Formats: sequence, structure tokens, C-alpha cells
Amino acid sequence: MSYEGEMLKKMRMPARKEVEEALLKTLIKHNGTIKEFATGEEIVEEIADLFSLNEEQRSVVLERIYRKEDRVVKTPLWHRLLYRAADSLSKDKFVTRPTTTIQLTNKREWMLTEKGYDAALNLLEISTTQKDLLPIKSFEVQKLVNKIKSSPKPEKYDPFENLRRKKTVTKALSIRSRGFRQAVIESYDYRCSVCGLKINSPDNLYWEVEAAHIVPHSKKGKDDIWNGIALCRLHHWAFDVGWFSLTDDFKILLSTKYDRLPNDYGKFGNIDFLKNVITSNQPLLLPEIKSLNPHEASIQWHRENIFYK
Ligand SMILES: [Zn+2]
Repeated sequence: MSYEGEMLKKMRMPARKEVEEALLKTLIKHNGTIKEFATGEEIVEEIADLFSLNEEQRSVVLERIYRKEDRVVKTPLWHRLLYRAADSLSKDKFVTRPTTTIQLTNKREWMLTEKGYDAALNLLEISTTQKDLLPIKSFEVQKLVNKIKSSPKPEKYDPFENLRRKKTVTKALSIRSRGFRQAVIESYDYRCSVCGLKINSPDNLYWEVEAAHIVPHSKKGKDDIWNGIALCRLHHWAFDVGWFSLTDDFKILLSTKYDRLPNDYGKFGNIDFLKNVITSNQPLLLPEIKSLNPHEASIQWHRENIFYK
């Protein structure tokens, strides 16, 4: 048995397979990414807690002599075990290595792949049909987000799904709709483009803001950035039912029917949920990158078909 193997046995460290499973579950808890296992990283302690490791197990080091340089290299055994488990997951294509992830996100992190995502959900006994609702990142989805965010805005644009492409396999469809959602909310900096509300859940997992389709899905609207806009739940609803629409230069158009509402409708105390935004002349909060603005073709369709003049 190797020196490392002997140490693992002597210290009664968990089996690598168990650590791999714990890593997959932890990745789900952390939105799909975890940092490298450097000293002082919270993640190292967090997973150690899952196994209730004692102080000695957490701190024991492997000593290896580098003869060439005549020095002793000390590596914490627990870090080594974590690394070996993550390395094994990456060989099985369940996660991407930090050296790969960094090319996509500029962060040195281990990231779930779609395969790893499915495996982790399976371990947690969560149905994979939940994937569309969960905010977990996967390498494939994030790759698509990058692609969407760097695409030039087309001059001519058809916001409707091509019917011939209806037979797209479910898996590709799921990646596409998740990529759409992620790209939209990232581009709008997680804010409602109407009121600017930015808030997430206390566990940091869910954002309040939603990626709204301008031409709705039910009308075969496309899942892409030029048919999308970030809206809080309230303004999403108001947009979908036609209380307001947008001009081609992104000003808010309010339905004339709005003024005929009873006085106590649509208010937070004295603040009107639509009128205050409009009368303050606040421009729509759009993406920093202009090419990601909604396309005029989508807005025009919304004005003509959904907006309640
Ligand atoms: Zn809002």
C-alpha cells in the first residue's frame, strides 16, 4: 500500500467514492460551482463537516521529500483526498476542472457538467424534470450563455420559433431555455428593467427577477436574448397581461385603461407600481452591452398583440 493509502487508512478517512458523492451534493448546494481546495477555503471545512472529521483528520499532512530540491513538501491529507475525488469526477466528465472552467468564467472553480448535474440530482433523489426550475449552473449552459452574450444583434429578426425545429430533443431544449434565462438575468445585472428591484433568496440560490419572453412561449416566441427582458414578478405579470408595453426606444407605454382603475388599485401605500416609474422619467434599465437589448421586432409584436391600448 502506498504511503498515502496507509495514511488514509490509519486516519480512518472516508472512502474516495463517498467523498465524490459528497462533492456532487455540495455542488448542487453551491449553484453548480465550488472553488479549488486551497487552505483556508470554506468549502474544505464544509465538506469535512459532512463527514464529521475531527481536528486531527482535518489537519494531518502528508510529507514528501523532493530530493532534487532537498526539501519536504507538506500537503494536508484531507485536501489531497478532496482533490483526488474531484479529479476522478472530472475524468468521468461529471465536473470540469478549474483550468477548464476558468476559460469560461474567469474563475478557478470545479463546475458541474450536465452529466454531473443529473448524477447529483439522482443522489439527492430529485427528479431531473426539476432542472428547468433550479438555478444550478452547468458547463454546457454557461457555455451557451457566453455564446448568447457575445452574439451580434441581428438587423432583421424573427422572434418566432421555426416550426421545423420543433422536434429538437428534450435535453437540448432544456439547455437552451436555461441558457436563455441565465443570459437574460445576467445581462440585466439581476435587476427588473422597469423598477430596478434586485434581490435574491436568503440562501443566495434564487433571484427574484425573471427572464420574461416578449413574444410569449405560448405564441411560439423564441428563447433568445432579443426576445427577452428581465422583469420582477409583478412587472412580468403586468407586461404579460398588457398593462404596459415598450416603444422602439425603450420607453414605457401605459395602457389608457389604467387611469380607469379604482383609486386603491396597484398601490404600495402611496406608490403606484407602474405610474411612479413612468412619471419619474426613469429610463428602462437595459443591459450594459447594447447588442443585448430587446429587438424592435419583438417589442413591436408585443405592442400590437398584447398591449391593451
Ligand atoms: Zn419591477
